[in-house]
Amino acid sequence: MQQHHQILIVGGGNAGLSAASQLLRKDKSLKIAIIEPSEKHYYQPAWTLVGAGEFDIAATERNEADYMPKGVSWIKARVASFQPEQSQVTCSDGSTYTYDALLVVPGLQLDWHKIKGFKETLGKNSVSSNYSFETAPYTWEMIKNFKGGVAIFTNPTTPVKCGGAPHKIMYLACDYWRKQGILDKCEVHYISGAGAIFAVKEFAETLEGVVANNKIIPHYLHNVTEIDGPNHSISYEYKDKDGNMVKESMKFDLCHAVPPQSAPDFIKESPLADPAQPLGWVEVDQYTFRHKRFANVYSCGDVSNAPISKTGAAIRKQVPVVVEHIFAQINQQQSNAKYDGYTACPIPTAYGKLMLAEFDYSNKPKMSFPIDQTKPRWSMWILKKYVLPWLYWNRILTGKA
Ligand SMILES: Cc1cc2nc3c(=O)[nH]c(=O)nc-3n(C[C@H](O)[C@H](O)[C@H](O)COP(=O)(O)OP(=O)(O)OC[C@H]3O[C@@H](n4cnc5c(N)ncnc54)[C@H](O)[C@@H]3O)c2cc1C
Repeated sequence: MQQHHQILIVGGGNAGLSAASQLLRKDKSLKIAIIEPSEKHYYQPAWTLVGAGEFDIAATERNEADYMPKGVSWIKARVASFQPEQSQVTCSDGSTYTYDALLVVPGLQLDWHKIKGFKETLGKNSVSSNYSFETAPYTWEMIKNFKGGVAIFTNPTTPVKCGGAPHKIMYLACDYWRKQGILDKCEVHYISGAGAIFAVKEFAETLEGVVANNKIIPHYLHNVTEIDGPNHSISYEYKDKDGNMVKESMKFDLCHAVPPQSAPDFIKESPLADPAQPLGWVEVDQYTFRHKRFANVYSCGDVSNAPISKTGAAIRKQVPVVVEHIFAQINQQQSNAKYDGYTACPIPTAYGKLMLAEFDYSNKPKMSFPIDQTKPRWSMWILKKYVLPWLYWNRILTGKA
């Protein structure tokens, strides 16, 4: 296989496949390679609906080969390190590849190990997480079989992919239990590392209403430190009003937990990482996605340090911008394309009701539809359940949307 490529892409996930497809739609003679070790590709946004019994887990997994754009060289390897001064990457098998332009999009890393006991009990002892393909179906088993008691939902202190996912599943669970006539027998707690239910005021107001209606007890700025599955106990810490660290535990009958998240270790340890951020995100210009120190390196999607929530919806607006800049560089031109920070979070507030939160770097709503999107609607539920999955597989990965 050719060892030098005009454009080398690290990661054939949502961002990597969309970018390769869009670049080839601009010029099909481009020499592009994607380094991607996985034979499978996942539509992760549907895992929330899997956990709520509304989506088939098998439909979220497809063969990577079926989505690799025609004309791209697929290198089935795992990148281990970067040598940006030599425009080179090295894989874990020792192979090296050089490039004119590099796009770094390997997603993020789930740090299960940062919560003691979590990994060991995941998928059993009434502890689950929609953040993994293997355990999202167990979330539904837990919700469906719950007979009342203490139900805990957690959200870590780090950024996560899809900031809404830790609490979306809580609203669906409460709605299900209400319909089963057992919500009155449930004590629902939300233990969150964030300081509020949602960052954008207009959407937060709606969610505060949902939290109150379901009698959910929120615990903000709390850090989960341990989940003891066999003893059904969760430990967490927070600062009291005098600034003293308080450590507490709570017993649960059901726990949906979300792991802390960071850049993959091989990114954190690389020269591409933002030295100012311990979580190791790739240091890019937030408007162009060009690396701040290496001019022929770009990054977007979950792994970049762009200060916006990490979603596929954001990637849909990021990729055309990064593609413009890479294409301009390859053709020795300049591009003025800029990303405004658009992201979206479709938040189901009950079965058949969804609020489509869209906003940008200003943390102000940026609505796509001529309706009040702070109101949960059935039409938006249909969008999430049927339209977006179709769009993803047929239009987004193929570079058409
Ligand atoms: C439960 C859940 C709910 C979500 N809900 C929504 C939602 O409602 N709406 C929304 O827009 N988004 C949602 N998301 C977020 C969305 O799925 C991600 O933002 C998106 O998939 C990120 O795309 P990416 O290309 O950056 O990373 P990914 O799609 O994760 O792809 C990364 C790729 O890089 C590869 N890779 C990793 N390491 C290496 C390496 N060393 N070398 C080479 N390749 C490597 C991986 O195998 C993978 O294929 C949700 C996510 C989850 C988990």
